[in-house]
Amino acid sequence: MRRKLIAGNWKMHGALTSNAQLLQSVLTGAGNLSAVEIAVCVPFPYLAQARSLLEGTNIAWGAQNLSEQPQGAFTGEVGAPMLNDFGCRYVIVGHSERRCFYGETDALIAEKFAAALANRISPILCVGETLEQRDSGQTIEVVSTQVNAVLERIGIAGFSGAVIAYEPVWAIGTGRTATSAQAQEVHASIRALLSKADSGIAGQLRILYGGSVKPSNASELFSMEDIDGGLIGGASLVAADFLAICQAAFSFR
Ligand code: PEP
Repeated sequence: MRRKLIAGNWKMHGALTSNAQLLQSVLTGAGNLSAVEIAVCVPFPYLAQARSLLEGTNIAWGAQNLSEQPQGAFTGEVGAPMLNDFGCRYVIVGHSERRCFYGETDALIAEKFAAALANRISPILCVGETLEQRDSGQTIEVVSTQVNAVLERIGIAGFSGAVIAYEPVWAIGTGRTATSAQAQEVHASIRALLSKADSGIAGQLRILYGGSVKPSNASELFSMEDIDGGLIGGASLVAADFLAICQAAFSFR
């Protein structure tokens, strides 16, 4: 049985005062949802705040990116040991915004995934196709290539404790959501791909769906066999919406 995970991706949003209000509301509402794992991935400057407000609670925190390097002359970068210093349980790796806007390649993403693992931080590996790729029937091939890049670099053991988020690029921040059947098909294909290497690890792996998840579509998505929770962008910034999504996951615990 895989414990559902709802992870918020705040992206580049937040301010000390509004973060405190948001986290306080989420903490209050999440008190009796501990059968679901809840996490928030915040901008680097707010990791200290997240730790001070969330330590000892049932909500974990993490970052949205990391360097593939542990430390050194890499101006502007943040290494996994630094994330460890702030108690991060998770780090998002290979989000489509990083792939598209910052040119992150599969090879670099595999190195980032390895850096997180080396520091005992669970990577949340994002994969997903563009609309053009979906329309030309390439979805499974694109996603498999993205997963294989990490599998070939790290080996299947690296997926034990990691998380994959299937996020169709065309559904992120657009209000368009994949249907539960479209998402389930891709999730099942990812699990089948990894099962060829180790069915035990693949069976335990949590595969989240991300892309315009809202209170109104969360239950339908989370009811699917291979959808183990969600990576939530916009809706994670509104406590009531984020909690309603956590509640939807709780009903499929
Ligand atoms: C995301 O940023 O990972 C995401 C899924 O965003 P949204 O929920 O806003 O589509």
